[in-house]
Amino acid sequence: MRVIKSFLPVMILTIASIYGFQKYSLLPPSAVIGVTYLTHMLALIVAGLSIRFSRSSAFFYVLLVVATNVILRFGWADSALAYGLLSTFSPLLLLLLTLLPDRGIFNVKVIPAYAMLVLAGTFSIVLATTSPAWAMQLFLSDWAPAQYFDWTQQSQTVLFVSFATLYVLLTLCILNPSPHVCAGFGVLFMLIVQLHFGDQHRSLNVFSSAALLMCLYAIMQETWRMAYIDELTGLPGRRALREKFQKLGSNFTVAMLDVDHFKRFNDSFGHDAGDAVLRMIAAKMCKISGGGLPYRYGGEEFSIVFNGKNSQDSVRHLETLREAIASNPFIIRRVGRSDRGNRALPSNNKSVSVTVSIGFADSGGNGISPWEVLKKADQALYRAKGKGRNCVSE
Ligand code: GH3
Ligand code: MG
Ligand code: MG
Repeated sequence: MRVIKSFLPVMILTIASIYGFQKYSLLPPSAVIGVTYLTHMLALIVAGLSIRFSRSSAFFYVLLVVATNVILRFGWADSALAYGLLSTFSPLLLLLLTLLPDRGIFNVKVIPAYAMLVLAGTFSIVLATTSPAWAMQLFLSDWAPAQYFDWTQQSQTVLFVSFATLYVLLTLCILNPSPHVCAGFGVLFMLIVQLHFGDQHRSLNVFSSAALLMCLYAIMQETWRMAYIDELTGLPGRRALREKFQKLGSNFTVAMLDVDHFKRFNDSFGHDAGDAVLRMIAAKMCKISGGGLPYRYGGEEFSIVFNGKNSQDSVRHLETLREAIASNPFIIRRVGRSDRGNRALPSNNKSVSVTVSIGFADSGGNGISPWEVLKKADQALYRAKGKGRNCVSE
């Protein structure tokens, strides 16, 4: 489901660009000028936003799209070898740039990315100007019967690299459908299609605009994630809860969940183990039955919203969640150290149980403000703590 959701913008933009490419010749000249300016404006906007939000992947995608456009528009890849080199290195560079971790843009840690671009550029220029026989053989000759490839002007080496990079990025997208990997796949696809259709104005404008729109969408999605999703647990945060509260009907239940003796846990096992506990609790909360929606309220406190359910309907789901957390042994991984030297001893894992207390309240079906209900749930939580913790209280 997540894969389909992440791929949807890529599919919509792909269909739109193919449609736009077919209808491009029907555009009046003034509209063609407009589309060309739109591509330039998009490149500036996406580059600016990627610098502002420090998204190196989007920045390098724009750099690659712009560089390919400049090379084609100025006719710097007119020879068959130069075009073959451009069509081979663009997908390869895009794949490598997607695989590099996001480490900012103006940072020494990003030097490998810049070095890769400069190296590929220099290598291509040297080869294109000297045209050695081995390069002609490698990038332009046919390896398989030519009659199967008469649908494209690209050489078989270029086709192989294009399909191989598409395959690798598609697999990455399925395994980890993050906005930047999906945008990487979309940009790669657009670059390959653009290079397949050649350096006509319409392929440059249409497919470059689509590639840039994909980058823009990825930046917007990352920004949305930063604002709404809690980084540690992956749950929606307080801002998302506030928006949910605005949309609730008159019948709903709000629950507040708090980890028991969490300060003591942190003091005994360290903050990292504490963070792992919060992630484990979030994972259990995501599986809550009854349509409950989990949020990280802040610190070690979480909220659950049941829309359209009163407290009687919700209590058993909260009880099941509490039990699931309490019965889940939490393993603290500790590697023992010998008294002398740093020789690691066999790991000394320890199993501890983590419990939570839950307070809840409902709206009573009369449209009472969700924040009032949350306050009541918080008071119920204190009662649960007073009862000895590891329990659910109304
Ligand atoms: P009680 O059972 O009464 O809730 O006791 P408690 O110790 O859980 O409550 P208290 O409010 O005294 O302590 C909350 C602790 O939660 C203190 C703080 O260090 C820890 N905490 C809050 N946010 C995080 C986090 O993101 N990671 C980790 N590891 N600890 C956190
Ligand atoms: Mg607390
Ligand atoms: Mg607590």
